[in-house]
Amino acid sequence: MGRIEIICGPMFSGKTEELLRKINRFKYSKKEFLLFKPKIDVRYSKSKVTSHNKSKETAHLIDTIDDVKRICEKHKDIKIIAVDEVQFIKSNRPLYLDFLTLKSKGYEIILSGLDMDYRGVPFPLIPEIMAIADEVIKLKAVCFDCGQDAGMSHKLLKEKEIVDIGANEKYKALCFKCWKNKGE
Ligand code: ADP
Ligand code: MG
Ligand code: ZN
Repeated sequence: MGRIEIICGPMFSGKTEELLRKINRFKYSKKEFLLFKPKIDVRYSKSKVTSHNKSKETAHLIDTIDDVKRICEKHKDIKIIAVDEVQFIKSNRPLYLDFLTLKSKGYEIILSGLDMDYRGVPFPLIPEIMAIADEVIKLKAVCFDCGQDAGMSHKLLKEKEIVDIGANEKYKALCFKCWKNKGE
């Protein structure tokens, strides 16, 4: 039987790094995997899953869960699927059902994505996946304002130019208190 694991948390919490760490282990154990990322995520690289500290790995670019299934069909012998930024995958069915179907086909599935948007609202589809997952890893960043553990993402609007991490960062990670202070 397969397995579903989801790595979640705010921006900068190390979700992509954790996904790439697991993938690196598959390489050492000579296990083949399929890595996917939604086309929408072109922050650092169009075709690679890239973390904020620039570790990277080539990925299949997809829009929908049907793209994932189609590529899996092409590579029938590969039974490990990894998806970064899973909150952006489109599906016209409840996405968790698609992942459950893949699990019952024997796939080991590792997902990584944001649990909440900058307003603190859970991303659609993510809570269901967390519920049906065999394992949920919830990571924390470091609060940009006070240095405590940060579980929230804050969207920079006018402050954009003050922040100078990477090319086009539009968000920062905040603890709940600092996030509340921003009026969320
Ligand atoms: P995510 O995918 O969760 O957005 P990444 O895995 O891409 O995060 O990046 C995590 C890396 O971001 C950390 O290892 C660190 O180098 C960097 N980083 C920058 N700002 C922060 C912060 N405030 N808290 C934690 N990590 C940060
Ligand atoms: Mg990431
Ligand atoms: Zn804080």
